[in-house]
Amino acid sequence: MARVQLETSVQYLKGVGPKVAKLFKKLGVETVYDLIFFFPRDYDDRSLITPIAALQPVIMSVIIAEIIALDLQLTRSRFSVLKVKLADKSGQIQAVWFNQPYLAQLFRCGMRLVVTGKLEISTFDASRQFQARDYEIYAPDLPKIIPVYALTEGLFPKKLRGIIKNVLDDLLDLVQDWLPKAIKKKYALAELQPSIMRLHFPDKLDEVAPARRRLVFDEFFSFQLGLGLRREKVKAQPGITFQVDQVILDRFLSSLSFKLTAAQARVWQEILAEMVSARPMNRLLQGDVGSGKTIIAVLAALVAIKSGYQAAVMAPTEILAQQHFEKMTKLLKSFKVKVGLLTSTTSKQGTNHSVDKYDLVVGTHALIQEGVGYKKLGLVVIDEQHRFGVVQRAALVQKGVTPDVLVMTATPIPRSLSLTLYGDLDRSIIDELPPGRTPVKTYFVPESKRAGAYNFIRQEIMAGRQVFVVCPLVAESEKIDLRAAIAESERLQKEIFPEYKVGLLHGRLKNKEKEKIMADFKVGKINVLVSTTVIEVGIDIPNATVMIIEHAERFGLSQLHQLRGRIGRGGEQAHCFLLADAKSPEAKARLKALIDSTDGFYLAEVDLQLRGPGDFCGTRQSGLPSFRVADIIRDEKILCEAREAAFGLIAEDRESARNIWQNQGEKAQGANSGAPLN
Ligand code: ADP
Ligand code: MG
Repeated sequence: MARVQLETSVQYLKGVGPKVAKLFKKLGVETVYDLIFFFPRDYDDRSLITPIAALQPVIMSVIIAEIIALDLQLTRSRFSVLKVKLADKSGQIQAVWFNQPYLAQLFRCGMRLVVTGKLEISTFDASRQFQARDYEIYAPDLPKIIPVYALTEGLFPKKLRGIIKNVLDDLLDLVQDWLPKAIKKKYALAELQPSIMRLHFPDKLDEVAPARRRLVFDEFFSFQLGLGLRREKVKAQPGITFQVDQVILDRFLSSLSFKLTAAQARVWQEILAEMVSARPMNRLLQGDVGSGKTIIAVLAALVAIKSGYQAAVMAPTEILAQQHFEKMTKLLKSFKVKVGLLTSTTSKQGTNHSVDKYDLVVGTHALIQEGVGYKKLGLVVIDEQHRFGVVQRAALVQKGVTPDVLVMTATPIPRSLSLTLYGDLDRSIIDELPPGRTPVKTYFVPESKRAGAYNFIRQEIMAGRQVFVVCPLVAESEKIDLRAAIAESERLQKEIFPEYKVGLLHGRLKNKEKEKIMADFKVGKINVLVSTTVIEVGIDIPNATVMIIEHAERFGLSQLHQLRGRIGRGGEQAHCFLLADAKSPEAKARLKALIDSTDGFYLAEVDLQLRGPGDFCGTRQSGLPSFRVADIIRDEKILCEAREAAFGLIAEDRESARNIWQNQGEKAQGANSGAPLN
């Protein structure tokens, strides 16, 4: 056989073969490298032996006992149960093994076993049984700490442990320690090979933490190195140096009906400084719902346009694009800026496929279609960035020549996530809401108090305010949900608010219809707008003061916060009613957090804790890397250290950073898809 390398398929290892290799594949293990880096998810501590008589139900325990009887039962469907009677000085118990009939050949009466498992007491006849998870034939020098790996049907723990032990004994030397000595020293990191060994087979449990820390560090370090190098590469290209006409800017600012908040003014200076410098801008603007990001985008666009460039603003929905178009047209009216709208509707009409004549182009994905050519695109703004993938961002950027890029998001991304997702972007944060906003009051409304909520709404409408009623609409049950939303709007119109106008907005409507409904709502022709989550992002109707969220338990916390952000935008006190049937503790925790707080960053942290990073970002968010060992929430501190180390190395010695990344970093990054060096 050819020499085994890290890239060799596990199939060629001792004791593996094609059949077991298939099982490994299910666990994401294909190569020797994967196997070496396939770490246990837990450990059994066999230094704590429980006497049989002292076993407690449910608790994973270890017993040492002698086999006194064996009974193998085969069912017709080739299912097998091996029942083994075990005894120690304190008592006896029956242990069971499922689907491992060969154990009947291996086990003999009189043999002593070390068995890990759980006591189960039948609710039917109170009989006691030991559900064996793992076993070892007793010997006085057995290891005390046993790794527990993720398993798949057909792959048993003992077998897996044996294969991994062999691989480590024979092939661990193939793994090179790739971290520079100085970094290991500075961050007090353990050596790589012993760390790998100890993480698999620790002699004592307290060896695990330092070993794990080293491996987590490596994963984050390689990821951050990739991000950092990508960022450097972008920064190294010459960008556009925009000219600032202060007179025009001042005139624009004084044309607004408000003064910028201190936070807006600060981030605007950060953005402006980068626009006038020759480095290309690649910046994330974060700010909670309603913090006033749009105006910052308009300021940046004005600078770009007055320097002779085009600016593009991309939004995730037609409604939002339309709203931006209207608002920006109005704001820029006396500044000789030609504003155009490009959405799938406008491009179907074939009216403005050519965007040459516009200074500012506002639109949806239609902006990045093939055939849409820009004259001189100098600034790209992407609103609600979390709704787009990395690819779409890149596609718009490619329409210009190193344009400055500003991506905006209202999803307050927790720090750990933003370091991973947006680690290549500089960040500006608007951490303040415009003055005069009163935080929305949020209530849980049980079904029995629904009528009370409607009475409250009636009073608000009489005072001239408007109302959102949000119904869930999820892909899996879209048809049913849509019907429910339609039925709800009819019910509200006929039975609850016959004297007022109830409107309905959902994604299936034609764009013209959507526009009409939004326009009617904006001018107050519609009092109550029943809507699916199409209103989630960006919609700005300051006169809306009440929101009912139906089936609130079906929404994620960040999404609820976004939805609620549609109200409370004027000076009036706004109210949000959560109608929910929250049974699971997780759903209850979500709703409670929403009622207790209006701080988007806090809520995002809670959401992340409750749901974990994958769900938090949703499937759309393809940029989220998957780490083998690291956990971006739990290991945030190591993440920050690794980032500091990686960015420090790049600043110090770019060449060697690049070499390290190319030789080892990509590999250390493993299954991770996050940071290609393109
Ligand atoms: P978001 O950050 O959620 O995109 P918007 O840009 O839509 O928020 O702004 C929300 C509302 O706040 C808009 O009606 C906008 O005109 C208003 N606004 C923005 N900045 C200020 C300010 N400094 N003072 C008062 N109102 C402001
Ligand atoms: Mg916005």
